[in-house]
Amino acid sequence: MAPHNIVINITPYLLLLMFSSLIAIAVSDDSFLECLSQDQTATNSSDIIFTQTDTEYSSVLQSTAINLRYSTSTTPKPFAIITPLTYSHVQSTILCAKKSNFQIRIRSGGHDYAGLSYTSHDQSPFVVLDLRELHSITIESGQNTSWVETGATVGELYYWVSQESQNLGFPAAICPTVGAGGHLSGGGFGAMVRKYGLAADQVIDARIVDANGRVLDRNSMGEDLFWAIRGGGGGSFGVVVAWKVNLVYVPEKVSVFSVSRTLEQGGSSLFNRWQYIGHNVSQDLFIRVIIQPTLNESGNRTVQVIFNSMFLGNVDKHVEMVTDSFPELGLQEQDCSEMSWIESILYFGNYPKGGKH
Ligand SMILES: Cc1cc2nc3c(=O)[nH]c(=O)nc-3n(C[C@H](O)[C@H](O)[C@H](O)COP(=O)(O)OP(=O)(O)OC[C@H]3O[C@@H](n4cnc5c(N)ncnc54)[C@H](O)[C@@H]3O)c2cc1C
Repeated sequence: MAPHNIVINITPYLLLLMFSSLIAIAVSDDSFLECLSQDQTATNSSDIIFTQTDTEYSSVLQSTAINLRYSTSTTPKPFAIITPLTYSHVQSTILCAKKSNFQIRIRSGGHDYAGLSYTSHDQSPFVVLDLRELHSITIESGQNTSWVETGATVGELYYWVSQESQNLGFPAAICPTVGAGGHLSGGGFGAMVRKYGLAADQVIDARIVDANGRVLDRNSMGEDLFWAIRGGGGGSFGVVVAWKVNLVYVPEKVSVFSVSRTLEQGGSSLFNRWQYIGHNVSQDLFIRVIIQPTLNESGNRTVQVIFNSMFLGNVDKHVEMVTDSFPELGLQEQDCSEMSWIESILYFGNYPKGGKH
């Protein structure tokens, strides 16, 4: 390609950069709040708008800022945090932010590894749209489906699904505190991934608010956008306010184990072996590996390889399947425990059995 072509091709980008800096200069703090105050549905704006002068601002901001690297005194902070109670609050936040040239960070559970839901990496003025108050969950009895608002955690969804039936579950994160908004937007996998795929694979409808403030469902957004929001990554295609998901069958009892081996106990060769069998076993069997530092019996530093497993069936069958496919692990019946699927969520999350959370 001739050099002059390159010059021609980058010109629009230079113009865009110049335009972006003009936008940054034109941000107006007061006009944003004034615009929001015109939303007649905002019964008491002090309950849903937190600016830097409000005493609750820091606690609201930090409450679900999970990566503490992005929660320091020098981390760029939002001009305001909006916690909508209704979809119309989401709509007006989007429209007012556009009008006042604020960027929007959307936050559901706040588990973004790069802090993208509560900070800015490019110094642009921004507001946080925090969906914590939109967290209702409706189980559609008899249909094995549920509408989940995106401010709910997947743990809340697991709980309400288990209350509906001992034979229903939902295949999403092992960590129950992740938000339904960001998690399903990016895929979402957990201990039932081999049987039922990603959480996003079970989404059958959604409600989003787009950049023009329109509330769309699957029908009105069209199949291309509906495809993109199920795995394309949060914060890219609009604000997802609710998902409709299929619930999946789980047996009344599942079997779990957690077996740990240090390097001295052959942990590395077991890890090597696991890579050859993990994907070949029954889809009812999930075995994951956690590798972490520890101290051995002599008090010296070593590496511990932990095999964590769930089987959608009883202990006898669990032991039989692991012994057939992975005899090197030496699994014994006493290594396994039978429990309900909802109890297995607490087991994998390292919550104490029967404890209050
Ligand atoms: C401790 C921990 C455990 C984890 N465990 C698992 C696991 O077991 N399995 C797994 O697959 N992943 C796991 N993850 C990754 C997690 O699923 C992703 O980080 C996910 O994006 C978090 O969603 P969130 O709503 O909690 O995060 P947020 O920080 O709120 O959002 C994440 C991203 O999605 C955007 N977003 C949030 N809500 C919406 C919305 N309603 N509409 C549009 N965009 C939105 C945000 O702007 C941001 O870009 C874990 C992460 C952590 C920190």
